[in-house]
Amino acid sequence: MSEIPRLKLREKHWQGVSVSDGLIIGKVLRIPSGTRNILRTTLLDADVERETRRLKAAVRLARMQLLAIRNRAERELGIEHAYIFDAHILMLEDKKLLDDVEAYIRRERSNAEWAVKVAADKILGIYAEIKDDYLRQRGSDIEDVTRRILAALSGEDPAYSKLEEDAVIVAEDFLPSAVAELDFRRTLAIVTDAGGWTSHTSILARGLGIPAVVGLRDLHRHVKTGDEIIVDGSTGDVYLHPNAATLNRYKTAATVASANVSIVDDASGAVSTTDGIKIILQANVELPAEYDGVLKYGAMGIGLYRSEFLFAQRVDLPSEELQRAAYVEVGKFGGEKGATIRLFDLGGDKIGLAETETERNPVLGLRALRFGLRHIDVLRTQVRAILRAAAEVKLSLVLPMVSDVSDVRRARKIIDEERTRLAADGQQYGEIKIGAMIEIPSAVMTVGSIAAEVDFLSLGTNDLVQYLLAVDRGNEAVAEWFRTLHPAVLQSISQVLAASKLADIPVSVCGEMAGTPAYAVVLLGLGVRRLSMTPSLIPRMRSVLGKISLTDAEQIANECLRCVEADDVEDLVRAELSKRWGALFTSKSLPIGRSKG
Ligand code: PEP
Ligand code: MG
Repeated sequence: MSEIPRLKLREKHWQGVSVSDGLIIGKVLRIPSGTRNILRTTLLDADVERETRRLKAAVRLARMQLLAIRNRAERELGIEHAYIFDAHILMLEDKKLLDDVEAYIRRERSNAEWAVKVAADKILGIYAEIKDDYLRQRGSDIEDVTRRILAALSGEDPAYSKLEEDAVIVAEDFLPSAVAELDFRRTLAIVTDAGGWTSHTSILARGLGIPAVVGLRDLHRHVKTGDEIIVDGSTGDVYLHPNAATLNRYKTAATVASANVSIVDDASGAVSTTDGIKIILQANVELPAEYDGVLKYGAMGIGLYRSEFLFAQRVDLPSEELQRAAYVEVGKFGGEKGATIRLFDLGGDKIGLAETETERNPVLGLRALRFGLRHIDVLRTQVRAILRAAAEVKLSLVLPMVSDVSDVRRARKIIDEERTRLAADGQQYGEIKIGAMIEIPSAVMTVGSIAAEVDFLSLGTNDLVQYLLAVDRGNEAVAEWFRTLHPAVLQSISQVLAASKLADIPVSVCGEMAGTPAYAVVLLGLGVRRLSMTPSLIPRMRSVLGKISLTDAEQIANECLRCVEADDVEDLVRAELSKRWGALFTSKSLPIGRSKG
């Protein structure tokens, strides 16, 4: 039989939100849409009892599946990821809810599927009214449980825990429990039409190091299982049926990326510039699944643990014991260099709490340390957990969003009181260094007084740029005003470094600026010797910094400090870096001044 000629498929491009880095060229596994058509059927009286039994059996099956998922999540992702499934299991054990569904079946003589849908729609309607993005997205938990019951009723297996071959998962909306059930070894990437940065699916994908792009609107209805697809998790670009030119471009990029990693995969310790200056590279982490990267990429300890991620899978406060165990685990990965635990940076653009939901200006609101100082019990619990964990592992504590030295004094007083209390109770605790995050302009302007009362400073450049330039870091519409190399940013960093020198305390940079090689050269030239970044960025940073000299970096930084416009700094950095180290920086990895852009 002659082969049917294959149609040449036209390349299609989508731009989504990149939520987990990595470049993948692979084949699609299309997950059928969850929005199935549920039809209402009216039962004969004689069939009503059987229908309620069918409902109960489906709920039992769903519960068993969820228990297995929960255990796997705890084993492979860490205990805090298991909690979301506890919430799902609790929903299935909610007697009132199940009684209501059963009563509906009896009263309306409805099929079980329809009764489940009616109950779920009612709850989802309540969630849809919630203003806070984070909490509203928790409605997806209800959808998740509902889909699982509906699948159990239809006898369908919803799991993708054993994939036959490597695949890029393409779904309309991929629910968190489905991610936790995935065959991680064979999942190359996850792309979804729905979703946002704070959705559980994105959080889990990032933690697992699976490249992911979300917010693709209608990609799902254009793909078939087996289609060729390119997913660029760092830019959010997705190409379906890529043509030869696109494929070649991305294949080269993928080779360069993996070559860069393999050069230095097993390196660890400080990196030295060509003139022998040691630079310490540390890791920023949020989730247990990222911890392996700390060792794998040779980080010298954990420079920033964003502890608010303990809330990522829950809405209530993690207990002191749960926190203590989490901090001990982080500390173990930090090893002898230790781990810096940041007090909860809740609110603002971060994980929110119900209380801050109605704030008109959450980024200027009751967030980070301010939240802790208002909710003193939350702060005390966390401080106690850190002090107790420090009995076992080496930890430091950093205060987020310090406005001035009075915030430091208030926090230090609480820390001292909790230390005294632990001692009085005969509880074991360890000594910790205490630092302040410098990310608000008022803290920069008064940094001398802060530096005199802490053990170290940590520059959070993401927020520093946001507040110095009054540019919302998450708002696409003003992205062109978010200028990391703005003279105001460089002057501020310089001021902070001068104060730390005077006080003789270390300063590290832990915003995204620290993980970007071109910016890191400028930071080095300004005087920075410690950088903390996402673990997977460390190898590239190590290979770049090992090939530059501090003398060159200082010359460039001094020139930068003379500029009065961000455009000029960017043009200068671009010109100098490509002139001095053309082989190290591709044109895409250098900043472009608006005058050239
Ligand atoms: C920063 O602001 O630069 C920082 C490191 O913290 P986050 O990104 O969590 O605000
Ligand atoms: Mg910050």
